[in-house]
Order: sequence, then C-alpha cells, then structure tokens
Amino acid sequence: MTTLEDYCTGEVRALERADRRRMLKESAREGCHVVQNNQRYISFSCNDYLGLSNDPRVIAAASAAVKQYGNGSGASRLVTGNHPLYAKLEAQIARMKHREAAVVFGSGYMANIGTIPVLVGKGDVIFADKLVHACLLDGAQLSGATIKRFRHNDTAHLAALMAQHRSAFKHALVLVDHVYSMDGDVAPLAELSALCHLHKGWLMADDAHGLGILPHSNNDAVDIWMGTLSKSAGSYGGYVAASRAVVDMLVTKARSLVFSTGLPPATCAGALAALEIMEVEPERGKRALALANRVADALGMPHTSSPILPLILGSETRALALSEQLKQRGILAAAIRPPTVPPGTARLRLTFSAGHTDAEVDMLIASLQAKSGLV
Ligand SMILES: *Cc1c(COP(=O)(O)O)cnc(C)c1O
Repeated sequence: MTTLEDYCTGEVRALERADRRRMLKESAREGCHVVQNNQRYISFSCNDYLGLSNDPRVIAAASAAVKQYGNGSGASRLVTGNHPLYAKLEAQIARMKHREAAVVFGSGYMANIGTIPVLVGKGDVIFADKLVHACLLDGAQLSGATIKRFRHNDTAHLAALMAQHRSAFKHALVLVDHVYSMDGDVAPLAELSALCHLHKGWLMADDAHGLGILPHSNNDAVDIWMGTLSKSAGSYGGYVAASRAVVDMLVTKARSLVFSTGLPPATCAGALAALEIMEVEPERGKRALALANRVADALGMPHTSSPILPLILGSETRALALSEQLKQRGILAAAIRPPTVPPGTARLRLTFSAGHTDAEVDMLIASLQAKSGLV
C-alpha cells in the first residue's frame, strides 16, 4: 500500500512535470505594487480594479468598525453574528443592483455554492456556459440537478439544448458569468433572458468582474445577480441580489450562510465604504477599462469590454516563460494554466486598475513589444 505522503509527493511531481504545479508565494501588496522576495513589482494580476482596497476612506471605515464592534463576528449570522453593518451593506447592494433585496455571504465562492443548491435540485436542470467560473460549477454539482453545458456565449447552442431537454425537468437555471474572468468578454444578457422567458428558465449571472465597471451590472434581464466584494470593492465577501422572495429563501436555506460564521464587522464596513465611493466616482471604472484598451491598441488586439486582457500563449511553458521575462523587468503578470483555462490556452491574464499610472502601463507595453515574438 502507498503511504499518504508517497501518494501526495508522486501526484505533485507529476503536476510539476506538466508545468501545472501551483505554489504559494508570499506577496505584500501596496496598491498596484507587490513585493515578493524583497523585490518590488508593478502588478497586472490584481482584481482591485478600482484601487479601492487601500483607499484611505475605506481603511478609515474598517478601522472605526473594528474599534466599535471588535474583530470577529462571533457566530453565524442567524445566531448572533448579524451585526448592524450587514443591513446597511445589503441595502446598498440591493440599491446598486436595482433589486428588492440582497444577502451577503462569507465570499463569492460561498455565495455560489450556497445559492445554487437552494434554487435547484434533483429533477431540475442547469444550463451552464462552458467557461463559467469554477464555483458556479461546484454549486451546480452540489445541487444534484442535471447539468448541460453550452458553448461559450453561444445562445443558439443554448436555445437548441433548452428546446431538446427543458421539458423533461421541473425547474431550469441558466448560469453565466457577466464578465468572463479569464477572457474578459461579456455575456449577452438580453438574449439569454429572452431564452429564459421562452423556455421558463431562471437566469443567474455572476458579476464578480462587472460591478462598478460595466454599466449593465444591474440589468433587469437577470433574475439572480451574484457577485463578490473582493474585487472591485477591494474588500471581502460575496452577495446575491434578487427579489425579496429569493433572498428570504436563501437566508433560510443556504448552507454556506447558515453553517458559517458571519464576516467580521470591519470587512462589512470597508465594503460598504467602497461601494459608496464606487457609486459617486464612476470615472474609476472607466479609467481601468481605458488602460486595458490602450494596451490592446498598442499590441494590435481587439478591444476588451472589461479591464481583463488575456494574452493567449497556448502552452504552459510559453505562458510561464513570458511571465518570467516580464518579472525580470519588474512586472508581475501571472501565468494562468489549465485546469483554470482549457488545455492549449495557457495565457497571461492582464488586469488593469484605476490605481495604475500611465507610466506603469507604458512600461508594460514597452516590455511586451520587446517580446513581441512571444505574443
Ligand atoms: C473571484 C470569483 C468568484 C469568487 O469570489 P470570491 O469572493 O473571491 O470567493 C466567483 N466568481 C467569479 C467569476 C470570480 O472571478
């Protein structure tokens, strides 16, 4: 019999040979800069799109909440962990998403794995885009519903699958990302919603990369808006914004909410302050998007609809090599490899933030142009 340690060592070695081993690196982040091994880099791999994670107003709100309410929340929200900041935060989210109500979870991942099994189960069907985020799929699998995948952003394929399969099931849930996290492209919400009306399905969209950046992240076409407070809101936590009826059911039944401790007060206070800034300073999202498209223009690539710009390189080896070459020039751009992306599409996923300076983006462009043989 193999020992546990031999088994794990062997598995990790095999992944290493395929350039698929993953390792944690200590990273101290200061805005768009990251310090690793005492070296300072400009990072194009953060999801802090609006530069709010270290905004002085956000820090002040979080610090004040720690002083007032203490550090941990002490219990599940349904027991005694529902400190007063939750109501304010949820009201703000519901307002921004144009929904009756919202509920905050421990993270975006927990929001998805908690919500989907409440809405559908055995005897129901889920139609999910091929490229949806892993945590939507994990939630789908936990639900026990039958899962059908449609080709990425291909509404004709979804229409065909719905026509063929919908009638054999009780409820149908369509899962999409609003902005696809590794490609930066956007779901056709209006067409998806029309299909959901035609085939009696519910549309759930993951807005982890849209909030505060895309103008349609409160689109009425979507029945269930899910999102995170860890990216453009520069904080931590996840949410669902929907009708009061849906939110009431989630609060009663979502296992990742019921059986997990509420977020610390300071986290909620920081997120709330960030959302308030996001609402009154829309130029932040516009700047992040403009920087991404400045790089797209310089590299002769098509424009992106989000601050995510993928440089697809193909093999793991090429992606790692370009990432390493940029690192030698003081630029951090992480290589994204399978299984996060489909085999043969390893890439550098560049993300832009309102916190980047023009000079930093110009340096990225110059470094990529110097390596143009690779891109
Ligand atoms: C990051 C991400 C999540 C998870 O959110 P966390 O708050 O980080 O757990 C969910 N969906 C998508 C599309 C994401 O990119």
